[in-house]
Amino acid sequence: MAEEAEPSLSQRAERKALEKAKILQRESERKTFRLVGRVLKKPEAERSEEEAAVLLLHRDTVEELCRRQVRRNVLKRKQEEVFDDADDLKNKVKQLADAVKEAKHLVVYTGAGISTAASIPDYRGPNGVWTLLQKGRTVSSSDLSKAAPTLTHMCIKMLHKEKLVKHVVSQNCDGLHLRSGLSRQALSELHGNMFIEVCTSCSPVREYVRLFDVTERTSLHRHGTGRSCRHCGDELRDTIVHFGERGTLEQPLNWKGAAEAAEMADVILCLGSSLKVLKKYACLWCMNRPANKRPKLYIVNLQWTPKDDLAVLKINGKCDDVMRFLMEELSLQIPVYDRVEDPIFSLATPLQPEEVDSYTREVIAPPDGQEDGSPDCRELAEEGQAVQGGWFGRGYGKGRKKKKAASS
Ligand SMILES: [Zn+2]
Repeated sequence: MAEEAEPSLSQRAERKALEKAKILQRESERKTFRLVGRVLKKPEAERSEEEAAVLLLHRDTVEELCRRQVRRNVLKRKQEEVFDDADDLKNKVKQLADAVKEAKHLVVYTGAGISTAASIPDYRGPNGVWTLLQKGRTVSSSDLSKAAPTLTHMCIKMLHKEKLVKHVVSQNCDGLHLRSGLSRQALSELHGNMFIEVCTSCSPVREYVRLFDVTERTSLHRHGTGRSCRHCGDELRDTIVHFGERGTLEQPLNWKGAAEAAEMADVILCLGSSLKVLKKYACLWCMNRPANKRPKLYIVNLQWTPKDDLAVLKINGKCDDVMRFLMEELSLQIPVYDRVEDPIFSLATPLQPEEVDSYTREVIAPPDGQEDGSPDCRELAEEGQAVQGGWFGRGYGKGRKKKKAASS
């Protein structure tokens, strides 16, 4: 017995010794990195002879640390907001105006950057929702409640009316394109619309447009809104497509419209999107064609985008500024958003009597003269209340609470 145990014991000791050596080596590497890092931080002239010798001795470490620094700098530059100066901006918009006039099939892709003027936070900008949540900060619900279509939304609607824009593909869930009066056939809301809940048990899928954010109880893979279909009684779900989910709803996503538009497009104008998500949707970019057969790309965004190198023109400006100049160049009037004409009021389905207390988010105020319709629980959605779940939460925060057995 003892003879048999002997080799396995020594094997174990050997393995342990090996592991210990590895740990020690890693520890010593970390020490070296810290030491070299400290020396590198000093200006060259202030380094002692001893410190200079450290750098010579650990050349590989020095190189690795420099590589990391370069990567950090690149990342930082990509996140910075860049502004073209006034002349530059005007010249670029002139070029854009020519492209818009000459385009046979212009398609517009929009992201959160077109809604920031509506006080809807963008995702990845310095004050974006994503950035704030990453830093553990909260986002205020009042940021989302009083939003109305921006100048950019209204310009896009006008450009579509003038037949200069054929289709709009948006990754925004804020519903502002719809509220600007843009026709639904011309719109693909790829990530859903926070005002729309649907019954997928009904065929065809039945849609309920509401005057409040329907997503307060929903999050990643939890889409039930707690209200039910008035036709079949099944629970309604939101239309939001979270990061990591595949959107299959026909409307409001309208992938068919988006894909057909991209197929026909000769010019694509990207407004206020980091394109980090949109670039993953291959069918939007005609990448299967040779480069000279693809739609010409114009990008308006303050930050770097992964498509910048492929763009004919990159405009570093705020969307509203660019669109204002563009409309001037095209001699088109910019329509003013008028709540009375907001289609959401005619599209909206009233709640059933037992559902009037089923939400706490603020209601889009009806046009003057049609006040009220908002239940008392609205006080819960006070200014400054932190929003955790919902369409921009990417599954952050609270999941949906277990439905209590509805007694009577
Ligand atoms: Zn139903």
